[in-house]
Amino acid sequence: MNVSDEVMIQLNNVNKWYGEFHVLKDINLTVRKGERIVICGPSGSGKSTMIRCLNRLEEHQAGDIIVGETTLNNDLKNIETIRREVGMVFQHFNLFPHLTVLENCCLAPIWVRKTPREEAEAIAMKYLERVKIPDQAYKYPGQLSGGQQQRVAIARSLCMNPEVMLFDEPTSALDPEMIKEVLDVMIELAKEGMTMLCVTHEMGFAKTVANRVIFMDGGQIIEENEPEEFFHNPQSERTQLFLSQIL
Ligand code: ADP
Ligand code: MG
Repeated sequence: MNVSDEVMIQLNNVNKWYGEFHVLKDINLTVRKGERIVICGPSGSGKSTMIRCLNRLEEHQAGDIIVGETTLNNDLKNIETIRREVGMVFQHFNLFPHLTVLENCCLAPIWVRKTPREEAEAIAMKYLERVKIPDQAYKYPGQLSGGQQQRVAIARSLCMNPEVMLFDEPTSALDPEMIKEVLDVMIELAKEGMTMLCVTHEMGFAKTVANRVIFMDGGQIIEENEPEEFFHNPQSERTQLFLSQIL
């Protein structure tokens, strides 16, 4: 799992407020192509907000976010570009319930990328095979288990051929026996060289897959390190406390 020198995402002094509430405070982060970054921290520390800013599901008010060549600002063209390049997987899957699995996967390629339907379906089937559920293609999300739905959500993102994948607690809503089937797909993606930012408290995943672990608290990046150091030699008291609570 190689990391290149090429910078994929750059955050410079990013700040965000929800009304009066200062939710992101001077976030600085450089993500290189091929990195697998795990973001952890207490509930309410700003993890979701930070990664949602990366594909403009949330707007930041100060500082710069640059994804690939594109600076995130109010230019709608830029936002479209980002949405194509950055895939996102949510805690609650967010599949379209009235569309089949295959239709869920084809929607964006057909309407955003203008891929012909037949080609979009072929690509979708390829990714559904990759996440090991091609036999579910004609079912509706409600007919699938949580683990299967989350794998559909991952396949759907991959159909857009993203440069980066963001995961926001992708296994938190799953029954324990389904966590592994989703993590296994994410591990495969990492091995294939996908650049990934994952908000997760699955520390086993962090240890095997991440090249960097970031700890957030109170809207700030408190500490970051390679997994070995992060888990065995945490520097800040807040990180130590957090780790003592989850490990
Ligand atoms: P995390 O993902 O680390 O749990 P979030 O990024 O979801 O944290 O939230 C960070 C803080 O911002 C929390 O205090 C939360 O209540 C607040 N917050 C999140 N979304 C909104 C919103 N849309 N409006 C106002 N406050 C919000
Ligand atoms: Mg969150």
